[in-house]
Parts: sequence; C-alpha cells; structure tokens
Amino acid sequence: MRVLCGHKVTHIEVEKGRATAVRTATGERIRVRRAVLADVSAPALYGQLFPVEVVGDRSARIFVDSNGIRPS
Ligand SMILES: Cc1cc2nc3c(=O)[nH]c(=O)nc-3n(C[C@H](O)[C@H](O)[C@H](O)COP(=O)(O)OP(=O)(O)OC[C@H]3O[C@@H](n4cnc5c(N)ncnc54)[C@H](O)[C@@H]3O)c2cc1C
Repeated sequence: MRVLCGHKVTHIEVEKGRATAVRTATGERIRVRRAVLADVSAPALYGQLFPVEVVGDRSARIFVDSNGIRPS
C-alpha cells in the first residue's frame, strides 16, 4: 500500500458502481485496487469528488441535511 500525503483530490472515477481511480489537483491519476477511504465531509464527497451522474440527487439530499439549504 502506498500513502500519498499533501495531494488534493479533485475527483474519484467510478466504473460500474466501483471507484476505479483518484485524480489529484496536479493531474496525477492513481488507480484504485480495492477502495477509496475518504475522510472528508459527506457534502465534499458527494458534491465535489464523485461524478454527478453517479451520485444523482443524493448530493441534493446531503446538502439539505448538512446545511439546511434546499437546492432549487
Ligand atoms: C458518507 C459519509 C457519511 C458520514 N456520516 C457521518 C455521520 O453519520 N455523522 C457525522 O458526525 N459525520 C459523518 N460524516 C462526516 C465525516 O465522518 C467527517 O466529517 C470526516 O471524516 C471529516 O473528519 P474530521 O473532522 O477528522 O475532518 P478534518 O480534520 O477536516 O480532516 C479531513 C482531512 O481531509 C483533507 N481533505 C479534505 N478534502 C480533501 C481533498 N479533496 N483531497 C485531499 N484531502 C482532503 C483535509 O485537508 C483534512 O486533512 C460522514 C462523511 C461521509 C463521507
């Protein structure tokens, strides 16, 4: 296992319902063998890191739950 510190993740790639790679702000693409452990808030995970087409309207519910803000 490799631990890479100090790199901002910009998004998580998903294929067939499984996380397959992580993209960093420097453009690096890191293939996922088993799983992505995301120790970020739920709004960050569902609203920024996962592709919109994967999350669907779940991100809207998360934002409502976390911030009390109902998206239009
Ligand atoms: C699916 C899900 C369900 C959750 N359910 C609950 C729950 O039921 N109850 C609850 O209280 N909390 C819940 N959370 C919130 C979550 O457990 C914590 O808010 C989260 O683990 C942050 O913990 P922390 O306070 O240690 O944050 P921090 O101390 O802020 O640590 C987060 C770290 O992640 C780093 N980071 C943030 N964004 C990035 C990025 N893009 N790339 C790289 N590093 C980054 C930050 O720099 C920081 O070092 C949930 C989160 C998710 C994703």
